[in-house]
Amino acid sequence: MSTQSKPPILRVALDLPLPRLFDYTCVDALVDDVGYRVSVPFGRGEKVGVIVAVLDESDQPVDKLKAALAILRDMPRLPADWLAVTEFCARYYQHPLGEVMTLALPPMLRKGKLPRALKDKKKDTDVTVQRPVLHAEQQSACAAIDNAAGEFKAFLLHGITGSGKTEVYLHAIEAVLARGQQALMLVPEIALTPQLEGRVAARFPNAKIVSAHSGLADAARARGFLDALEGRADIVMGTRLSVFTPLPRLGLIVIDEEHDASFKQQEGLRYSARDVAVMRAKQLNIPIVLGSATPSLETYYHAKSRRYGLLELKQRAVADAPPVVRCIDTRREKLQDGLSAAMLAAIEARLARGEQSLIFLNRRGYAPVLACPSCGWVSTCKRCAANMVVHLADKRLRCHHCGFENHIPAGCPDCGNQDIHPFGRGTQRLEETLAQRFPHARVLRVDRDSANSPTKWRALLDAIHADEVDILIGTQMLAKGHDFPKLTLVGAIGADAALFAADFRAPERLFAQLMQVGGRSGRAALPGEVLIQTEYPDHPLYEALMQHDFHRFADSQLEEREQAGFPPYTFQALLRAEAPSIDQSLAFLAQARAAAKALLDDNAQYSEHISLYDPVPMRMFRLMSLERAQLLIESPSRPALQHFLTQWMEALYAQKANRELRWHLDVDPLEF
Ligand code: ADP
Ligand code: ZN
Ligand code: ZN
Repeated sequence: MSTQSKPPILRVALDLPLPRLFDYTCVDALVDDVGYRVSVPFGRGEKVGVIVAVLDESDQPVDKLKAALAILRDMPRLPADWLAVTEFCARYYQHPLGEVMTLALPPMLRKGKLPRALKDKKKDTDVTVQRPVLHAEQQSACAAIDNAAGEFKAFLLHGITGSGKTEVYLHAIEAVLARGQQALMLVPEIALTPQLEGRVAARFPNAKIVSAHSGLADAARARGFLDALEGRADIVMGTRLSVFTPLPRLGLIVIDEEHDASFKQQEGLRYSARDVAVMRAKQLNIPIVLGSATPSLETYYHAKSRRYGLLELKQRAVADAPPVVRCIDTRREKLQDGLSAAMLAAIEARLARGEQSLIFLNRRGYAPVLACPSCGWVSTCKRCAANMVVHLADKRLRCHHCGFENHIPAGCPDCGNQDIHPFGRGTQRLEETLAQRFPHARVLRVDRDSANSPTKWRALLDAIHADEVDILIGTQMLAKGHDFPKLTLVGAIGADAALFAADFRAPERLFAQLMQVGGRSGRAALPGEVLIQTEYPDHPLYEALMQHDFHRFADSQLEEREQAGFPPYTFQALLRAEAPSIDQSLAFLAQARAAAKALLDDNAQYSEHISLYDPVPMRMFRLMSLERAQLLIESPSRPALQHFLTQWMEALYAQKANRELRWHLDVDPLEF
């Protein structure tokens, strides 16, 4: 042993796809440097990482360690709760900590840079704020949340659109700010909710409100992060990534539309911001409110089993009735371009009264496929196991999965037949049909093609509000968070497809979509009507919808899930693999399964709780020229699953990497 004084060791998380940390020596390191960013030599270059520990010893010989270049003390330390939430994600999602931290930091701060400071605008302090008097249900919801101050408690705030949930959030936030604390509010897609941002800003004119989403410029996002970290921000509002905002005085988390799929990231670190937020509230001992008209079955199940408090708003806050929901039975009717006589008549009646209609069809493009009736050719994507969608507006065939494009062929590429047709119906075709049918009506289509930039999206919304539209055609993009005072009819077509989809979550999503889109109608003084074209008018999902009965729907779904052994009664993880050929992917998964089997055989104490399924090709088995397969692992016990996954991942990371094959683990997967 050398008698020289030993330099302190920094343990650093670096942005690398490896489940390990890196040690460096650093002569001027102090014990409390944990949480600072640090630049270190790596390979032939330099990297910026985060210090997660300052130690006396390393597991490796100290003379083999390189010296850190500089501790970046110009940015305050990332606080303990930020380190805790990122460490939780790394553990729970079995993901390298350095990659988690990279995702959790704004891009500018990852690189070791800092934004220039801006002077705070002077706030006008004598604005009088209008706030409605809460009705009884809102009052008791607020009281329950307020009573939970300083302890961990999760609440489900369940109420239809217009029932006054947002008012409850605002009151709860007000109480938190009055105590000198900070609030975090997560929303699905902020680009779609400028109205909500405006409403929060108007309610808290003296508060510093920071928004956090990926659409912000680098410097603005970094500045918002620092405002939060240094305690200047009072309210942080943002999309899923804002769950990683460091907030030293955090007193409350709110998640609006908690069921929304955009809270789950579908690439890289496949985290659920909702679940991470609940974990964060638990770590910090603060309340969290999950609000929705159609809660996820996971959250609803927690509320039913009393792990979460259930706060119900049963009436609309403003005195109008919920829309009347009816089914149009299309079994015996010959549809006219996909539309029933009853639907056409309902639109006609709105036109005559100068009101708006919205026809909801969750399929963009002109038609889902181009086909040759004489030889059976269909427009498939070369790279994916999917059809190319006809986009007549710009005369292209386009794959919605990989973005691959082609011109529309004049004849069949296989047999030369000139008479090839688009089959089926998307929003563009519906737009064409309605424009022909109602030549005097102003028809507007709103989907990801027509609203492909924030400016275009804003222009479409402005046109709707300026009463420049009679018939709207929209995908689920239109379902969220907008008040259209003149809208009195919502028609849904093509909804049946989701009733019998292979994905067990499809009915849950369909119910939420129809409920949400239906909630757009009749919000002002005019009563609303929702018409659903269906071949299954007696389906329990539609019956529950007609009665506005979420509980009935959710209870029957939970029963089915319990019988089938699906979440929330079981916990799942998916190992996915992709490679140039499906055989490679399946072979990798077979190997992984054998490794899992060996582990389970050695660990009798938890092995009986884990079910391993067989590797299977994914439903979309080819995507961007890679062929994909998956392996499902299930357990009724979350700790048993976690324990198993940790050991299994160690085994998989230890295997020799195959350059042609990529794999990842998805814990609590939403898509199969
Ligand atoms: P949700 O978030 O459930 O859709 P909101 O909180 O946005 O509902 O309320 C719907 C509308 O009713 C809003 O215009 C809101 O200002 C109004 N509102 C909510 N609560 C009350 C109340 N207690 N008294 C009067 N108006 C209310
Ligand atoms: Zn042909
Ligand atoms: Zn494709």
